[in-house]
Amino acid sequence: MLRLPRFRYLRPKTAREAARMSADLGPRAMFVAGGTDLFPKLKRRQFEVETLIGLDFLSGEVRQSDDEVVVGAGATLAFAAENQHLRRVHPGYAQAAGLVSSPPLRNAGTTGGNLCVDTRCNYYDMTFEWRKAAGFCLKKDGDICLVAPSSPRCWAVSSSDTGPMAIALGGLVTLAGTDGERELPVAALYRDDGIDYLAKQPSEVVTELRLRRDEGVRSAYVKLRRRGSIDFPIAGAAVAMRLDGGTVASCRIVLSAVASHPLEVPEAADFMVGKTVDEESARAAAEIAAQPAKPLDNADLTHFWRKKMVRVVVEQALRAASDQTGGLDG
Ligand SMILES: Cc1cc2nc3c(=O)[nH]c(=O)nc-3n(C[C@H](O)[C@H](O)[C@H](O)COP(=O)(O)OP(=O)(O)OC[C@H]3O[C@@H](n4cnc5c(N)ncnc54)[C@H](O)[C@@H]3O)c2cc1C
Ligand code: SF4
Repeated sequence: MLRLPRFRYLRPKTAREAARMSADLGPRAMFVAGGTDLFPKLKRRQFEVETLIGLDFLSGEVRQSDDEVVVGAGATLAFAAENQHLRRVHPGYAQAAGLVSSPPLRNAGTTGGNLCVDTRCNYYDMTFEWRKAAGFCLKKDGDICLVAPSSPRCWAVSSSDTGPMAIALGGLVTLAGTDGERELPVAALYRDDGIDYLAKQPSEVVTELRLRRDEGVRSAYVKLRRRGSIDFPIAGAAVAMRLDGGTVASCRIVLSAVASHPLEVPEAADFMVGKTVDEESARAAAEIAAQPAKPLDNADLTHFWRKKMVRVVVEQALRAASDQTGGLDG
C-alpha cells in the first residue's frame, strides 16, 4: 500500500493569508483543496513538499446575479453538476463537472482544483519505484522526455474537463495573491508546457470562476474515456455557441486532453459562423478542429485513434449544443 509522506498542514482563514503562506514557503508548500489529485500524487512521490496549505475557507456556493453566475472555487464538482443555475444557464459546464472521474471524487474534488489540476503522462503518473526503474523524466527528477526523447520540453497532457468548457464560455477566474485580487480570462490561465502549465503565480489562489450570464448561449461538453465511471478524458470537446434564426452567430470550440493546455480551435469555430448546424457542417468543422490536435503516445489508448476521435467528440458537441432547448432540465 502506498502511504502519504509526513507533512505539516496549515489552515489559513482567507485567500490572502494562504497566498502569503505560499509565498513565504515557496516550492516546499502546496495548496490542497479536495486533495483528490494531490494526495495520490503525494503517495507516488510526484511532489515532495513539507507543508500543505488547506483551502477549505473557499466558498462552496454558486451565486447568480443579473449578469453572471459565480462558481466558488470550493464548490465541489458534484454540487456544480447538480446546481440549477448552471444546469439552466451553462449546461455544458454542469455536464463537464458531472463527467469528472467518479461520484466519490466529485463529492470531494473542487471546481478550483479542477482548473488547476496537474498535467498527466503515462510515464509520470506512476509510483516512485516504477519511475525509478523506467528512468526518471523531465517533469520529475530526470533530464529527458521519455515520450519524445529529442524534445527539450515536457508534453504531459492537460486533463481538466471543466477548464476547456470555462474557456469556451469566456469565463474569468479571480486570483487572490499577496498584494490583492486580479481577474484573468480562463484562457490565459494555461501555458502550453507540461511542467509549467499554469500562468498564475504559484502563490495565487483561484477563489472563483465567473461565467457571463447570457441566456442565448448554448453549451455542451462531450468526453471520451475508456471507463465512463472514472477515467480522465483522452479526448474531449467543449462548445459554446449562439444561434441567430437557426444559423450560428458566434461559436467557441475548445479541446481537452490533446495538448499540454486546453486547445482552442478558432478556425473550426469560425467555419461554423453563418451556417446551420447539420451533419455536413458539423463534420467539416470537426475535421478542421482535429488538425491542430496532436495527441502523443503518453495517455490511454493509441494516439492515432485519439486523434481520429477528436473529430467525433467535436461533431457530437456541436450537434448537442445546437439541439439544446432550455438547459439540461428543460
Ligand atoms: C482516479 C481519478 C480519476 C480522475 N478523473 C478525472 C477526470 O476525469 N477529469 C478531471 O478533470 N480530473 C480527474 N481527476 C483529478 C481530480 O479528481 C479532479 O481534477 C479534481 O477536480 C481536483 O480537485 P481537488 O479539489 O481535489 O484538487 P486538489 O487535488 O486538492 O489539487 C489539485 C491541484 O490544484 C491546486 N489547487 C487546488 N485548488 C486550488 C485553488 N483554489 N487555487 C490554486 N491552486 C489550487 C493544488 O495545489 C494541486 O496542485 C481524477 C483523479 C483520480 C484520482
Ligand atoms: S511528456 Fe515527457 S517529460 Fe513530460 S511527463 Fe511525460 S515523459 Fe515526462
